[in-house]
Amino acid sequence: MIHVRRSPCPKKLQKEGPVWLKDLRQAKTDCERIKNDPNSTEKEKAEAERSFKAAQGKYNHSTIKRALQTMFNGGVVSKSTKCAYCETAIESPKGQDIEHFYPKAVYLDKTFDWDNLLIACVSCNEEFKGDDFPVDPEGRPLLINPTSEEPADHLSFLFDVETLESHVEGKDEMGRITVDFFALNGFRSTDKKGRSLAAVRQSVVLGWITMALLFQKEADLDKRKDLLEEFQGLCHPKTQYAAFARAIHRAL
Ligand SMILES: [Zn+2]
Repeated sequence: MIHVRRSPCPKKLQKEGPVWLKDLRQAKTDCERIKNDPNSTEKEKAEAERSFKAAQGKYNHSTIKRALQTMFNGGVVSKSTKCAYCETAIESPKGQDIEHFYPKAVYLDKTFDWDNLLIACVSCNEEFKGDDFPVDPEGRPLLINPTSEEPADHLSFLFDVETLESHVEGKDEMGRITVDFFALNGFRSTDKKGRSLAAVRQSVVLGWITMALLFQKEADLDKRKDLLEEFQGLCHPKTQYAAFARAIHRAL
């Protein structure tokens, strides 16, 4: 996980957001009234639920999604949008879910709040998060929002040159809860080969560790400079698992 600077709110959301929220609140009130009315038919209940879902889904507008895709791949709209939480590249636009940091099912008023929107992979968004949202006794989030927190303040990105394992560990409560909550080293049902995320990352990080070892042994100053530049490219926010590239870069 790396810090991502939030871009300005898309004009569409800025303009329509307050209206969409008003409609959503009304749709929720109507839906609850119809569901609680013993005289309502199943058809009326289903229709009210459909209207609520339609009002809720307005955030899924193409300009909002595009702004988030751009924000989470370093500034270029391409297939390589990354998950805000696990930094895995999500190739299919269908898998690039608009994620509500504060779950929209619980925090209705944050459904169209630009600061609450992220991009997440299906595992982080649906398999692990869903409507769960750990908070402290004062109601403050215990998960890291990479656009409002500096993840490196809460997480350590570690790699073991002997075992070639790449692990992320929590430095504090927020970090530890985030790592466990999203299984940032663990198994995810979306990996068709049944690998843990640590193992998936390892295959990427291994090449970088090899590069780092070459750099350390290299006596030729020009070649050292080239290797260093290549490494700096890997630290770019667009790179998958950039947090690990930055950790290796710091260790050079
Ligand atoms: Zn993810």
